[in-house]
Amino acid sequence: MEDNKKISRRNALKYMGLGILGVAGIYSAIRFTPLNDKIKDAIKKGKIKPVSTRKDRVLGSEVSMLAFGCMRLPMMKTAEGTTVINRELSAQLIQYAYDNGVNYFDTAYNYLNGESELVVGEILKAFPRESFHLATKMPTWLITGLDKGKELFQEQLDKCQVEYFDFYLLHALGSIEDYDKAYKNTGVIEYLKEEKAKGRIKRLGFSFHSNAQTMDYLLQQYDWDFVMIQLNYLDWEAQNAKYMYGQLEKRNIQCLVMEPLRGGALATLNPEAVSILKEANPDLTPAGWAFRWVGSLPNVLTILSGMNVMSHVEENINTFRNFKPLTSSEQEAVSKALAAYKKISPVPCTGCAYCMPCNFGVDIPAVFAAYNELIAEGNVPDVKSAWTEESSRKKDIFLTRYNQSVSEPAQAHHCTQCGKCKTMCPQEIDIPAELARINEMVQEMSWR
Ligand code: SF4
Ligand code: SF4
Repeated sequence: MEDNKKISRRNALKYMGLGILGVAGIYSAIRFTPLNDKIKDAIKKGKIKPVSTRKDRVLGSEVSMLAFGCMRLPMMKTAEGTTVINRELSAQLIQYAYDNGVNYFDTAYNYLNGESELVVGEILKAFPRESFHLATKMPTWLITGLDKGKELFQEQLDKCQVEYFDFYLLHALGSIEDYDKAYKNTGVIEYLKEEKAKGRIKRLGFSFHSNAQTMDYLLQQYDWDFVMIQLNYLDWEAQNAKYMYGQLEKRNIQCLVMEPLRGGALATLNPEAVSILKEANPDLTPAGWAFRWVGSLPNVLTILSGMNVMSHVEENINTFRNFKPLTSSEQEAVSKALAAYKKISPVPCTGCAYCMPCNFGVDIPAVFAAYNELIAEGNVPDVKSAWTEESSRKKDIFLTRYNQSVSEPAQAHHCTQCGKCKTMCPQEIDIPAELARINEMVQEMSWR
């Protein structure tokens, strides 16, 4: 993860003035000229391929297999010290993606303190409305009744400056109670069906963070147009994604994918897993493997990636140009890499931050990210075994990096085990137990 961040920063600097090679060279060279024409021309002349598309089975439109997730747009500080979306850079990233064939943009009411919908709407206004698909999500947790549901929906249309949403999702359904309380008992679901009949919603679905029982219940409630699930080669078995995908496929409901990289974990992996993938295809990055694995499932319509630096936009677009599903030998390589990755036992945290804030200041996702990164690199000494020179070397790396990545007041030892965060985690991680385990390791290392 840290390596990725370093690369991102380096590429971000290049992007800001020093130029990027390959397809990005086109971008760099025309940074101050109309981008559309150059990219379109290169695509027309066959010099580069656009991002591949899949046909949506509801209305028959072609949807890009790569969806631009707008939950992590680039941020900046204002003169007053407030953190806001960097609109100019966001527009450049979105424009570059659009020019390369990405036509699905995903936002939500709450993303980036509510600013994402505003900025995305403002940027997409530059493109013909029928040339892109805009998806947003109703904040399930804010619905207190029918009037509130109506008010939120209208506010979202206004913020995005559109007359309709192409994909509208009930956001983050985590239990049967969530759905019943917010949508069924209030009549909001009937209202949304009316909006669909009026054409202000083109397709109605939900994003899902729960178990098989909840999925079965939700699928009985309505003839949904699509469903968004967390899908990647790690969760296929671990989080029962195989079952969810199978249920949707059986009902001919197309699947939208979130977390294809499992919170970035599949973009880094551990050295053993990386070398297995490299041997199978030296040109494909671990992130590219993860995207191709998801895209190889035929019932997947589009795959979300939250992108905030140009190097990620480019890499992802390159993976989806002229998309080819994995061959059977490549599938085998993924299985072997997964087995190698599972051996290191990372915490299955996606960094979603639904568990935050912690009243005691613990930065839960930051602690897990630092730990996962160090464990993937092989820099966690075995504190239970005989201490060696190698253990000391790893200990020094671990403690330095842990202290750099997570500020002291946010570290695991501040966890009081109150348990408040535990019920919030869509991955069902036993957060207090994992924090205690990490803290115990850190304490052991500190005493050595
Ligand atoms: S269990 Fe720990 S991390 Fe979770 S909310 Fe309580 S103090 Fe914070
Ligand atoms: S809610 Fe769970 S997955 Fe999300 S950041 Fe917290 S621990 Fe990680």
